[in-house]
Amino acid sequence: MAPNDSRSTHPNPPVELNVKQVVLGDLSFQTWYQSIYPEDLVKKDNELLYICRWCFRYSCDVDAYVKHTHTCEHRTTPLGTQVYDHGGYSVWEIDGEEHKLFAQNISLFAKLFVDHKSVFFDVASFLFYILTFTDPNDPENYHILGYFSKEKLSWDANNLACILIFPPYQHKQLGKLLMGVSYKLSGWERDTGLVGGPEKPLSEMGHKSYVRFWEERLARYFLTRLCEHNDSDESQSQRQKGKTSKGSRKKYPQERISVQKLGHATGMLTEDVITTLKSMGAAEPDTKPPQSKQTQSSTEAEEDSGQTVILRKSKVLDWAKTHKLTLGDPVREEGFLGDYALTSTPEESTIESPEEDE
Ligand SMILES: [Zn+2]
Repeated sequence: MAPNDSRSTHPNPPVELNVKQVVLGDLSFQTWYQSIYPEDLVKKDNELLYICRWCFRYSCDVDAYVKHTHTCEHRTTPLGTQVYDHGGYSVWEIDGEEHKLFAQNISLFAKLFVDHKSVFFDVASFLFYILTFTDPNDPENYHILGYFSKEKLSWDANNLACILIFPPYQHKQLGKLLMGVSYKLSGWERDTGLVGGPEKPLSEMGHKSYVRFWEERLARYFLTRLCEHNDSDESQSQRQKGKTSKGSRKKYPQERISVQKLGHATGMLTEDVITTLKSMGAAEPDTKPPQSKQTQSSTEAEEDSGQTVILRKSKVLDWAKTHKLTLGDPVREEGFLGDYALTSTPEESTIESPEEDE
């Protein structure tokens, strides 16, 4: 895929950087943050660092770099196991313990563009998911566009530790693709799966990206439900109320809904659901006292143990229109491979819509 203009700039460029510019394959671009490359290998006042675009080995010496690119053992096939493949984009799972050098090298490279994460040498307890693009006309020439890492065992339900789309490939919705994949891989749709989210605290940029991703995720969930169930919901509520359809009745009524239930339906943590609903302005706290226990089923009573909100469906629709949301998820169910393909939900994957790109 064609990279963006390589002069991709960060909002707060730091004053003095020890590695100022990198060469990644045939791209060259500026760094954003201090490097933590070993000082005996990368001198402190180094201007330019050459990085192998397949294995992330680094060198200050252009001749050594060029020599390596002719012999790099990963130049035609990425490391790891392919877990996702759709439209030329693939995600490969790499075990940090099995491939320590690769994991360390991609982490060192990422640190040039990530400010706050410090886990770079304990790579053995992480899995790395690299995003690649392969032009179908040139199948042996793949590009690594970014990656995310994930703790193998997280006690805090973290489904992602660090995410980075490399600067030349940013602003192409690829971060959302990786975030979507991270939720899918946490297996929340299965009985044994976990509701999760990214490791906190998030950077300012990370927070902004995630809120937008979550907004789209919830909006798609609401709108898909509206499309699928609107008719049956309406006829059901009419039967319950013993009323016939009136022109004055609101087309999209407000709905009392449990935040926890929303989390379970979308794989999101309750705190992330609340953050997102606030940001969308689509819901407000439910101030009505809960119904008496006699009129509730046990499931409803259970859901009521958590926080509930009043969802305004018309606001969701407004949000979707304003942000030009497409119903089709950028992550395609049919793209998952191996074990991850088992949870595919065909009814979701049939919603077709053109891909949006900012
Ligand atoms: Zn290499």
